[in-house]
Amino acid sequence: MPIRATKRGAQRTRIEADCDVLICGASFAGLAVARELAGSGANVLMVDRYEIGERQTSACGIPTEWLTRMGLQDSLRQSFDSLLVHTPWASVRWELPWSFSTFDYRQLCGLLWEQARLPQSAFETAKVNGITRAAAETGAPHTVHTDRGDIRAPLVVDGLGWRRVLAQAMEIQPPNARLSRGLEVHPDGQGAEMELWIDAGYVRAGYGWSFPAREEVRVGIGSFWPSHHVKEPTVRLAADLSRPADGYQGNWIPHQLRPAVEGGVFFVGDSAGHCLPLTAEGIRTALYFGIACGRQLHAVIEGRASVEQALAAYAAFSDSHEWKFRWLLRSQRLIGRLTNTPAVTGLSQAMGRRGLSRWAFEHYLAIAPPSFVEHDPPRSAAPRARTAPATA
Ligand SMILES: Cc1cc2nc3c(=O)[nH]c(=O)nc-3n(C[C@H](O)[C@H](O)[C@H](O)COP(=O)(O)OP(=O)(O)OC[C@H]3O[C@@H](n4cnc5c(N)ncnc54)[C@H](O)[C@@H]3O)c2cc1C
Repeated sequence: MPIRATKRGAQRTRIEADCDVLICGASFAGLAVARELAGSGANVLMVDRYEIGERQTSACGIPTEWLTRMGLQDSLRQSFDSLLVHTPWASVRWELPWSFSTFDYRQLCGLLWEQARLPQSAFETAKVNGITRAAAETGAPHTVHTDRGDIRAPLVVDGLGWRRVLAQAMEIQPPNARLSRGLEVHPDGQGAEMELWIDAGYVRAGYGWSFPAREEVRVGIGSFWPSHHVKEPTVRLAADLSRPADGYQGNWIPHQLRPAVEGGVFFVGDSAGHCLPLTAEGIRTALYFGIACGRQLHAVIEGRASVEQALAAYAAFSDSHEWKFRWLLRSQRLIGRLTNTPAVTGLSQAMGRRGLSRWAFEHYLAIAPPSFVEHDPPRSAAPRARTAPATA
């Protein structure tokens, strides 16, 4: 995929466009929606404040089968069959019944974009500022306001991450919102183990990690409590591993499911709170719910469902996962309370037993199973060009 630099200065010409589907956010969630629309013939426009794949937002770890089922294996960097878990009292190896892999963010986003098979002009860099909603009964399009102009579409997706920019409710503000936080460094180097630290010496409620990715190692700290700072322990964990604290990146992480539909807009990935509590694994789920949303939009484009039916079906699908997210949040709170006690070592040693780890990880994978990716994106009709020029 040709990587263009984000448009700046005079290049930031005005956008005035109409389209069938406007996807706001071109990371895991937004790109998964676009991929599922391939072959629908829909007139799709994607916008992001940065170029596709420009800003890595995570340690980029995912169950390997999700990469292979989606045809994204070229982005794979390193695979692991076990997890080495450290507490202040013991180090225990948890065997995984399925393998976990790190991948390259830019490459994975590029592959998803290729699979969506949209023309280059279907992507614009623009900052999304808000939305004027159309009244449901009118069938008129929504108008999304960006720093480069207004875009109108009857089908609008918010894949903009934890801020939930297109929500009707008040803006989500850390540190008081239901958010965790994470920070990591990406020093050059190699490693053989995927490792976790559940150790109050680093973070009072949360965990540290080291994820090797062939030519670099992603070392970070996540806190379940948004008011707890993560920079100093991240630097300290890197130093304890004899790694320089190079290449910072961090973000807020929602740890509670939010409505997947609001005011006629589809919310996917972190904007819908689709990141799993306890583990903060949000890539697999952004892809999973992105596919689910994309399938509903595809049905509308092909005339198999009305917009209202698609909104209702997608909301019901997301809501059907609520109890799983609730249980993970309970576990997050329990582990948060136990981090500073020897009980956490007992729990870790129990997970070191093959039978328990197999049971736990198989149930965990089933929350968003790789089998959900049933097929390659359809290969029929070519996507249409937009009805209005992107720039004016
Ligand atoms: C340090 C850290 C490490 C993590 N490691 C992992 C991991 O290894 N595995 C895992 O599964 N999960 C991990 N996560 C969680 C994971 O990163 C998120 O759950 C995931 O990125 C959510 O994907 P998304 O597409 O919903 O949102 P995002 O990846 O956050 O993408 C949102 C997109 O919207 C764009 N955007 C935002 N606001 C605007 C705006 N106003 N206008 C235009 N564009 C905008 C952004 O540029 C971005 O491209 C980690 C999180 C952190 C913070």
